[in-house]
Amino acid sequence: MAKIGWIDTHTHLAYHELDKLDDNIAYAVEHDIQDIVAIALTKEEYVFHTSLKDRYKSVRIHTTCGAHPAEVYKWSEDKFNSFMSDLESMDIIALGEIGLDYYWDKEHHDLQKERFIAQIKLANKLKLPILIHCRDAFEDCLKILQDHTPEYHGIMHCYSGSAEMAIEFMKIGMDISLAGPLTFTNARVPKEVAKVVPLERLHIETDAPYLTPHPFRGKKNQTGYVHFVGEELSRIKNMHESDVKNQLGLNFKRLFAKN
Ligand SMILES: [Zn+2]
Repeated sequence: MAKIGWIDTHTHLAYHELDKLDDNIAYAVEHDIQDIVAIALTKEEYVFHTSLKDRYKSVRIHTTCGAHPAEVYKWSEDKFNSFMSDLESMDIIALGEIGLDYYWDKEHHDLQKERFIAQIKLANKLKLPILIHCRDAFEDCLKILQDHTPEYHGIMHCYSGSAEMAIEFMKIGMDISLAGPLTFTNARVPKEVAKVVPLERLHIETDAPYLTPHPFRGKKNQTGYVHFVGEELSRIKNMHESDVKNQLGLNFKRLFAKN
């Protein structure tokens, strides 16, 4: 089997500082990041990420696309429908990020739910896992997933809920992904989630350029910094980094078997 490196399962390469992208990818390669999942929220971002696959041969760049809950309610019916049909012809390993965000949008919860459900159904039709963004909406998100099973499973990205709730999401087939906040010294809940969730159901990510891990907290995040999250996870699980890398690699393969 090919050597497995760290995997950044969620990053926005299109929002990185583009004149520093060569350096960012070089840093990632230096720190043993071998797979990067580039999340697009629009068709344009997807096209840009796809172009990076040819530009950077030293890492594997995987693409996804989905309508973000904090944006999608602003879209007209026509815009949403044409985006949905664009998704059908994209070369993506997952549909996302999709979900519910009651933090940024306090008014259009019904519309968010409707478009979340529509995208879950599309993912099932396309036989794709889903990547979920859920902020201040865990009860509603869980209910929707219980009523509309994601048949190809998926990831609760940058999971910020409780350990108890994580178990409920796992019961319906969702994996849990942890990001930079895991490395913060005062991050009691993410560290607890990392302890409770079996390594077989975990993933790591940066969500760069947001959520920069320690020791670069406060600066702009980049995909290569996922190694800080992996190192902290290894400490919490009391395991060798190479064993954690291997298991996370198997988790990635299980979920995105098509690739
Ligand atoms: Zn994101």
